[in-house]
Amino acid sequence: MSFSVYWLQSGGCGGDTMALLSASSPSLLDLLSALDIEVLWHPSLSNLSAGEHQALLDAIISGRRPLDVLVVEGAVIRGPAGTGLFDRWNGRPKKDLIAELAHRAGFVVAAGTCASFGGLGVGAEIEATGLQFKGHEPGGFLGSGFRSARGLPVLNLSGCPVHAEVVLGALSALAEGVRLDLDGLNRPLEWFGTLVHQGCSRNEYHEFRVEEQDFGGRGCLFFHMGCHGPLAYGPCNKLLWSKGTSKPRVGVPCFGCTEPDFPQRSPFFVTPNVEGIPLNLPPGVRRAHYMVYKGMAAVAAPERLTERQNRV
Ligand code: SF4
Repeated sequence: MSFSVYWLQSGGCGGDTMALLSASSPSLLDLLSALDIEVLWHPSLSNLSAGEHQALLDAIISGRRPLDVLVVEGAVIRGPAGTGLFDRWNGRPKKDLIAELAHRAGFVVAAGTCASFGGLGVGAEIEATGLQFKGHEPGGFLGSGFRSARGLPVLNLSGCPVHAEVVLGALSALAEGVRLDLDGLNRPLEWFGTLVHQGCSRNEYHEFRVEEQDFGGRGCLFFHMGCHGPLAYGPCNKLLWSKGTSKPRVGVPCFGCTEPDFPQRSPFFVTPNVEGIPLNLPPGVRRAHYMVYKGMAAVAAPERLTERQNRV
């Protein structure tokens, strides 16, 4: 029997779906067919009538139709005043549908940062939350103790959007029975075990503190331009986007979109710093040590880097 997936969109922009549809080698459709994954419903791929779709949902919720994976894209909307009526399916709060499907599914996957942690709408009138986290706080919509029918917490595949290869890799692992070890935020270490900084083509500039203060140069964007590469966990400089690039590689700072506090409340293209040292340092790094190390590194910067920095 094929491995079934139901993809539900809730409070989000649809960006995770847009990223997923652009997957190549393998494409989304090639991978689904290779692994015999049956998409019971996806808003951009399915053509069921409204009646057929409702009948499918009734069959899953009643237990007549097994469901292997529920993927939720977008935050769970609980407003106004906890009713969930800002986001409805057939007149009912969509949050109720999410709860019913989550309790039937073998595995539950949060696709993107909004589904994982709540994203933009946390603290707003829509009362957004992630499935099992609200920002950094465990619990979210389903509660910390939630486990899907196959015994796992919600698998958080964060990112704004989540990388298509992360979604396809996670679905492949679940379909093939491969164990995925998780970090403290329930993100698979396979993709969230290293910082975005790792693999950036500007690493050598970072090492010697050859910094940018404006766009267009080749130096590091951490010290002044707001790059979150050394602060955020994710695969963006290893699993390149469109098989060839990433934000920092083309001169745009990483915005830390895989982290629970995304989007940050401070300006995106500025690094809050004291005396040129960023307020937020890489995890586990001591400020005093960092100041000494970076001061010495800047003095030791080789000319080939400082000269090349602004060469077009
Ligand atoms: S631009 Fe960002 S990701 Fe690249 S080396 Fe600098 S801090 Fe790291």
